[in-house]
Amino acid sequence: MNAPINKDWLQAEDTAHDKAMKIERETHKLEKRLCRQMGQAISDFNLIEAGDRIMVCMSGGKDSYGMLDILLKMQARAPVQFELIAVNLDQKQPGFPAEVLPAYLQSLGVKFHIETQDTYSIVKDKVPEGKTMCSLCSRLRRGILYKVAGELGCNKLALGHHRDDMLQTFFLNMFFGGKLKGMPPKLVSDNGEFMVIRPLAFVAEADLIRWAEHRQFPIIPCTLCGSQENLQRKQIGNMLREWQKKFPGRIENMFAALQNIVPSHLMDPQKHDFKNLKTTGMPMPDGDTAFDDESFSEPSLPGIQVIPMSS
Ligand code: SF4
Repeated sequence: MNAPINKDWLQAEDTAHDKAMKIERETHKLEKRLCRQMGQAISDFNLIEAGDRIMVCMSGGKDSYGMLDILLKMQARAPVQFELIAVNLDQKQPGFPAEVLPAYLQSLGVKFHIETQDTYSIVKDKVPEGKTMCSLCSRLRRGILYKVAGELGCNKLALGHHRDDMLQTFFLNMFFGGKLKGMPPKLVSDNGEFMVIRPLAFVAEADLIRWAEHRQFPIIPCTLCGSQENLQRKQIGNMLREWQKKFPGRIENMFAALQNIVPSHLMDPQKHDFKNLKTTGMPMPDGDTAFDDESFSEPSLPGIQVIPMSS
């Protein structure tokens, strides 16, 4: 006589199957979102044009792997032809696994170049013990990357900064630099020779983390130089995450605000000619209404009291 089928086993199999299907669906949605957001940035800011030769800067971190991965997908379906060359700068940091990126890039079949320059020793030599090394290190790195871009005949450099990096930079400049200045999706390099583009401008960091896990990128740790972490950027990152937890949607709103600026409602006389402002007698869509519209007000932040305007 056949043994009775244990229903628990069948149920466990069903649950595992449902779970696998759910993960597959979610991953498919994530891939579509990443491609859509990169496509949107390319189109909104005209990041890529026919004939471009783009140097894709690879650090070995999740963001640059994700950027190259999605750029390759976009290249395969783009209406115009452009070239991608992945470039990594081996700065000779102790313990840098020099074989990891070449092996990965070879397996993809993409053009790549590894530039080896011992900036680590220079930085260690020049920066006093205990001082932050990042500023000199990034200046050296930028100079080398521009030189390599020129040698490779590239007209554009793609950097893997994402939406959250851009917001963090905006707040860093405001809190510590007294400037309303962010990180643009497209900017001419400071030597005037190259266009620097950020194709991940619309992509959330959380999505890049999930994508890196799914694709099993061979991530190279970014702490090899032993430099102190950038504390201010870390603080801002924590602040933004806290806000988003307490007020879901705030990151999206702040990011939207970066693309929706009203200079006449700020105070920069270089951006708006306050001195020569004249009345026109005509209705102005952006004109003063004498009272602020508070219908969009959010709950007050802890410790900050919102005082209603008296009528
Ligand atoms: S963290 Fe290290 S490698 Fe990165 S910029 Fe700073 S010093 Fe350079």
